[in-house]
Amino acid sequence: MEKTQQIKTILSEKPVNREITVRGWLKSKRDSKGFSFLDVTDGSCLNGLQILADSSLSNYHSDISRLTTGCSIEARGLLLPSPAKGQTVELHAKAINVYGWAPPESYPLQKKHQSFEFLRSIAHLRGRTNSLGAVARVRSRLSWAIHQFFQERGFFQIHTPIITTSDCEGAGEMFTVTSLDLQKLPVAGGAVDYCQDFFGRQASLTVSGQLEAEAYALALGNVYTFGPTFRAENSNTSRHLAEFWMVEPEMAFCDLENDMNIAEELLKFLIRDCMENCAQDIDLFARFVDKNLTAKLLNVVQYDFIRISYSEAISKLEKADMHFTFPVAWGIDLQSEHERYLAEKLFQRPVIVTDYPKGIKPFYMRLNDDGKTVAAMDILFPGIGEIIGGSQREERFELLKNRMEESGITLENYQWYLDLRRYGTVPHAGFGLGFERIIQFVTGMGNIRDVIAFPRTPGSASV
Ligand code: ATP
Ligand code: MN
Repeated sequence: MEKTQQIKTILSEKPVNREITVRGWLKSKRDSKGFSFLDVTDGSCLNGLQILADSSLSNYHSDISRLTTGCSIEARGLLLPSPAKGQTVELHAKAINVYGWAPPESYPLQKKHQSFEFLRSIAHLRGRTNSLGAVARVRSRLSWAIHQFFQERGFFQIHTPIITTSDCEGAGEMFTVTSLDLQKLPVAGGAVDYCQDFFGRQASLTVSGQLEAEAYALALGNVYTFGPTFRAENSNTSRHLAEFWMVEPEMAFCDLENDMNIAEELLKFLIRDCMENCAQDIDLFARFVDKNLTAKLLNVVQYDFIRISYSEAISKLEKADMHFTFPVAWGIDLQSEHERYLAEKLFQRPVIVTDYPKGIKPFYMRLNDDGKTVAAMDILFPGIGEIIGGSQREERFELLKNRMEESGITLENYQWYLDLRRYGTVPHAGFGLGFERIIQFVTGMGNIRDVIAFPRTPGSASV
């Protein structure tokens, strides 16, 4: 098969009077006397290419006139300036071949507007719509930009395991990975005997690559992970998935302040990158998904994020002239209504909340000198809530061990983690960025199920 240029390249380069071949899917067809206009997309960009198909083509009546939305075709012809409004070039076809039909009586993606809920029920086809196609392109670009950001700054990517035996990483409920016969579970002492399981112990899908990334930060300096993570929590919200992707940098010789600086720089870099390189797709979202999108994106890249301590945040919340369902008091975990008040009402821009009470944060966060709080930071975004959670890690052996014991962790399983403090320990810090949450922010998409191709949520994992 001859190499074809993507429509994206054809439209951006645009020299005319040359013969080209395009392959793609029909978005729509308009018939006139003696010819048809075909709007064809190959998915490379939002815009399709207009193809003029004259009735003198040999298969005009047998094939071309029968084309409907979704049919796949190949068209060869001459690229010429277009007299029509809204496009500069069009293809005058010399030959059109049909690859596959899409019978309109059953093909679910017709021209009319379809709700995101409906599109979720046909996840295998929804990438062909303008909006979900744009999401997929933005997602790919953001993924690339994440690697670019870290690689340019000398970070190494670490592939941390998806199957883990760290029994409690403090981040959430886990899915067990087993090859045992569920009809005949081996039992010892009234409980499932995981000694007989594949790994000789209970294993799960990872909830975070952080602990393993720490091991490599203490070897290579600055590292990051970027992979899928899993949470078996029954959170049926527009911000939670059971399978989502996380970006987790981990930096040696780094304190909380530097951690926040890198996190803020990363978020701004990603948003700017998309505004520049996915302008057409972002414009689609700004027109059809969130009318204020551009202002919201600029509001993040143009100003410094607000930085306040948890204790300050609590006192702001206590003074708020707003009723909260969850009462505010020092020591509570911030609920989404509190986070929204801070980021959307009070400051109206991203807020970094630092130094949370140790009781509501995991064992690995570094204890502050007050003995009550830890060097944690959460970044709260307007419209999203928590987008990043991070901390300086506890690098002091005794303090870490104490906190692990307090948290009821089986030390036996974490000797390897304690080794990192036994041998050559250094101050270090990192954070986790929810990949789907940044995509949600950049696209304005309201539901996280629409920014991942095949979402997994409680009760739902089809396709
Ligand atoms: P939340 O409070 O929103 O449930 P969390 O505090 O449990 O999040 P962390 O364990 O700190 O989340 O994970 C780091 C980041 O991963 C979060 O800041 C968020 O962006 C993202 N994240 C966490 N849980 C989910 C989820 N279930 N689906 C999608 N993204 C998530
Ligand atoms: Mn968190």
